[in-house]
Amino acid sequence: MTAYPHLLAPLDLGFVTLRNRVLMGSMHTGLEETRDWNRVAEFYAARARGGAGLIVTGGMAPNREGGVFPGAAGLFTDQDIANHRVVTDRVHDNGGLIAMQILHAGRYAYGKDCVAPSAVKSPISPFTPTELDEDGIEKQIADIVTAAVRAQSAGYDGVEIMGSEGYFLNQFLVTHTNRRTDRWGGSYENRMRLPVEVVRRVRAAVGPNFILIYRLSMIDLIPNGSTHQEVVTLAKAVEAAGATIINTGIGWHEARIPTIATSVPRRAFAWVTQKLMGQVSIPVVTSNRINTPDVGEAVLAEGCADMISMARPFLADPDFVAKAAKGQAHLIAPCIACNQACLDHTFGGKLTSCLVNPRACHETELTLPEVAVVKHVAVVGAGPAGLSAAIAAAGRGHRVTIFERSGQVGGQLNLAKQVPGKEEFHGLVDWFAASAADAGVEVRLNTAATADMLSGFDEVIIATGVTPRDPGIPGQDGGNVLSYIDVLRGAEVGERVVVIGAGGIGFDVSEFLTTDHSPTTDLPEWLREWGVGDPAEARGGLSAAGPQPTPSRRQVTLLQRKAEKPGKRLGKTTGWIHRAALQMKGVTMRGGVNYDRITDEGLWISQGAAKENPELIVCDTIVLCAGQLSDRTLADALADRGIACHFIGGADVAAELDAKRAIDQGTRLAAVL
Ligand code: NAP
Ligand code: SF4
Repeated sequence: MTAYPHLLAPLDLGFVTLRNRVLMGSMHTGLEETRDWNRVAEFYAARARGGAGLIVTGGMAPNREGGVFPGAAGLFTDQDIANHRVVTDRVHDNGGLIAMQILHAGRYAYGKDCVAPSAVKSPISPFTPTELDEDGIEKQIADIVTAAVRAQSAGYDGVEIMGSEGYFLNQFLVTHTNRRTDRWGGSYENRMRLPVEVVRRVRAAVGPNFILIYRLSMIDLIPNGSTHQEVVTLAKAVEAAGATIINTGIGWHEARIPTIATSVPRRAFAWVTQKLMGQVSIPVVTSNRINTPDVGEAVLAEGCADMISMARPFLADPDFVAKAAKGQAHLIAPCIACNQACLDHTFGGKLTSCLVNPRACHETELTLPEVAVVKHVAVVGAGPAGLSAAIAAAGRGHRVTIFERSGQVGGQLNLAKQVPGKEEFHGLVDWFAASAADAGVEVRLNTAATADMLSGFDEVIIATGVTPRDPGIPGQDGGNVLSYIDVLRGAEVGERVVVIGAGGIGFDVSEFLTTDHSPTTDLPEWLREWGVGDPAEARGGLSAAGPQPTPSRRQVTLLQRKAEKPGKRLGKTTGWIHRAALQMKGVTMRGGVNYDRITDEGLWISQGAAKENPELIVCDTIVLCAGQLSDRTLADALADRGIACHFIGGADVAAELDAKRAIDQGTRLAAVL
């Protein structure tokens, strides 16, 4: 008897049966643009082997003007069809089904040729789109239909028509972007004409036995977005036009409400999809921040949807479904919703991967084959770098012992998990512990490794991490100064606080100090904090009251020396959320300051090389978050003994260390041991 009867139940679509209720949601990985079709095929095939019920590809452009960026992949030529055939064949050979997403970006297309219902520029694009005329609209429909027909020729089992997230079809639906007065604008009936016409004509072209998913924006989270009644009207029309499945889209890309970041509560928007249940008779899929089988099962058991969509969790672990089915949910590598190696890479023009699983999108290049010669490997430090190396090396067949000075594995992740909004790190630490045990790693806690202990090993890996940097501010030895480690471990902190250093840790500490109760674990509070309302009552789901954050009981000032906006270097897709969250808590953020001295009253700062405008920031506590340095004390002792070792993570380079680099480095080292 499985613990996931709803999740693992087949879904009969009439002409084909999905083996379970798990849809792998569309993600732009950048793989198609590498033109290495074996690599693309292996990425999807791994997810098919791992049990995904239905895979949806990254968005394929139907034409040049609709591509998300110039040169975006699409099925434009017969050669493209042949290339995609490699992918679909490999997925089918591995027991999977795959649909191709057709993504027309409209005004979100990053190029001067972009087109839209009206010439209204998006706040997240520098390009003003050209307003389409009647012929232009007909051309877009024809191109989308052609893309669907070509997908069918390439062996896909269906298509997903991207109608949400503020892309082209979504742009026709709302007056925010559709100012037309012809038959494609004005009344809702006119505004929804294009999406419905697209579905109708695609269905007519591909015949009845082809999956047609329509991704429908159920809560736009922008001003003048759709109402729930309009969502229902569209869903019914899309069903009548021939859709097989309706998938959920949450929020436009330009929305200023986080929808998938780690601080968004799990299953935060399942209630939105649930409002559509019973209104249509085709299956409805829900999405966003579902990352464990337990959450997926609960969402389905409660009737929020007929199926769940997960995208990033399939980067973190291609075997998500297979492990759930085998009763090994504790071994599923968790997506912590950090965006650091997936969306941040995409928006930085880099190939997608995953912080937790560096093999994601590198399946053919980063392999962990069984070893011919078993070595005895010592790893010092059970943080993310050391654990990744240990687990991957043991998985290859090496005998691995990991030494950890403290009483628990996880290293700095144990600090991160104390931060409100970073609760997902609990699951990551638990997964590391479970995977180490499963791989047969010998974990020696409360053991500070010495050169003596390490002398008999074939390979020694130093993953001792970092120590806090001493900023050397005069007066910092007083009783009013704490390090971030003290604070996150629960040291007493006053009501007026200055945080020195506005890197990732300074932001985290400020969040910790201004939040007593994490909204991430309390959905109603989170919705109130960000101003999300019921789309049945408020257009687009923006509540009339606006954001209502719980005020902080502390007054926090966050400082840095660089004369730039604090938080500028945080994650591309999440930095704005951290900044907005602290602004909502009334945190004062300042750059371009000198730290002159600390007294009992507080911190004296000044500006510029000439130390102008001296100013006392009166406070009770000063918290040092001034970066970190490599901890290489053991390395020096080993060098004295002539023991060669490998350095990974913070012990290798402390600057700009994060778990992404640590895990990647640990895994890549294990791959060549
Ligand atoms: P960081 O991002 O390098 O920030 C260090 C801060 O200390 C900067 O604000 C820097 O700003 C300041 N600083 C550097 N030298 C200083 C000195 N001598 N005196 C006073 N201030 C000094 O490092 P971090 O905040 O310690 O974070 C460590 C790593 O963890 C980061 O690289 C980050 O990637 C990762 N992390 C990530 C997240 C995340 O959300 N993605 C969260 C937490 C941590 P100025 O030099 O301008 O003063
Ligand atoms: Fe999830 Fe982070 Fe991996 Fe992206 S990089 S898939 S958000 S764990």
